[in-house]
Amino acid sequence: MDYVDRVLQELKEKNPGQPEFHQAATEVLDSLRVVLDSNPAYEKAGLLERLVEPERIIMFRVPWVDDNGKVHVNKGYRVQFNSAIGPYKGGLRFHPSVNLSIIKFLGFEQIFKNSLTSLPIGGGKGGSDFDPKGKSDNEIMRFCQSFMTELYRHMGSDTDVPAGDIGVGGREIGFLFGQYKRIQNEHTGVLTGRGLSYGGSLARTEATGFGLVYISQEALNSKCNNFAGKKVVISGSGNVAIYACQKAMQLGAKVLAMSDSSGYIYDENGINLDVIKDIKEVKRARINEYVKAVPTAKFVPDHSKIWTIKCDIALPCATQNELDLESAKVLVKNGVILVAEGANMPTTMDATKYFQDNGVMFLPGKAANAGGVATSALEMAQSSSRIFWSFEKVDSELQHIMINIFRNIDSASKKYGYEGNYVIGANIAGFLKVADAMMAQGVV
Ligand code: NDP
Repeated sequence: MDYVDRVLQELKEKNPGQPEFHQAATEVLDSLRVVLDSNPAYEKAGLLERLVEPERIIMFRVPWVDDNGKVHVNKGYRVQFNSAIGPYKGGLRFHPSVNLSIIKFLGFEQIFKNSLTSLPIGGGKGGSDFDPKGKSDNEIMRFCQSFMTELYRHMGSDTDVPAGDIGVGGREIGFLFGQYKRIQNEHTGVLTGRGLSYGGSLARTEATGFGLVYISQEALNSKCNNFAGKKVVISGSGNVAIYACQKAMQLGAKVLAMSDSSGYIYDENGINLDVIKDIKEVKRARINEYVKAVPTAKFVPDHSKIWTIKCDIALPCATQNELDLESAKVLVKNGVILVAEGANMPTTMDATKYFQDNGVMFLPGKAANAGGVATSALEMAQSSSRIFWSFEKVDSELQHIMINIFRNIDSASKKYGYEGNYVIGANIAGFLKVADAMMAQGVV
């Protein structure tokens, strides 16, 4: 049995019941075979065995009291996966589906994504099975305070710097930061995605969605193509989806559909983003509200069917495994030319393969959505220097980083004989920097 197969087998035996983590590890390790075969030193140093085992996992109780005085208990997690190239960095997810497998898959992916940004940040991820939907602001605040009352002791601006993810936006980061500052009595860049009045960076809110479109544009440019006049479908209507929609429209595309977990809306005239922002960022309401404002649009109460809409570019920006083989077949039949993952692992492995086998440009999340964490690292730089940059400066750095990521994954795919396979290109390019750092630092 070769090195990769042995490590994957051991990983599955030692971590039963963690399908998302197995999926992420399999996807990455499978594509590293070509590098590992030509560098036996990695096996000798037990590099993969160390890479797939988090440096530290923190699991804790999060008790909180609702507005009616009822006590609730949620699970809290922080997986500090790898600090070879910098402090742990990665978001917090608050969603009822959160469990250890999901946090480990996200933390593992984060190692390579952060490496691809070319900035000095290690990989981590955290969260809770708490569901922020339908909770009052006071309930959210009490939950965030309770969560931070345990997590604060494991964080630090040079140790571990969490950020937002699904269910953790500006409001939650504010409450988390307030409690951290209160306990530690220090105002440092210990969380990113902060509000502008207390250390946040301009363009962080837009960064993941904008970055997704910048890297997609660069990929299209490499084939003498671009967003202008293209029909785009975007799943989700959260932070990533909204700003991907904005940038795609700025570049001349028409966004036909967006979704949330209750269904999707289709607007043949092109989505009115002001209406979406009002529903999602102001009212925090369900997406079917859109048809009240735009009666010519259609609401379909099944979010998975969004991929049946004919489009040139598909941007899955909701959650993991939301785009399966069946959907991929329909997209290919309808002539899709580019699929870029705004969410983390939204495409199943067989769907990814189908896109690649059928000549669709496929940009994996660890490259395509790295703009968020890259801008978080720029926020860390600004926090440390106590000097804050203009929107234009951050946005132009972001653009530069995303273009570079595409060039790096493209050239890695070519160098190792898999031209156009950006999954392999991203995994190899992300891995090499982390592997070098781990080799240099000895067996730790
Ligand atoms: P948000 O919470 O802002 O939005 C998530 C969106 O996805 C919502 O519209 C939500 O709908 C929808 N959604 C969630 N679960 C499902 C589901 N099971 N089926 C259909 N729709 C669903 O999160 P973000 O936009 O921040 O994150 C989206 C994805 O992007 C995640 O995978 C995240 O890990 C990834 N990501 C985010 C980054 C960031 O900077 N925010 C950075 C890099 C990656 P509903 O409201 O109904 O639940």
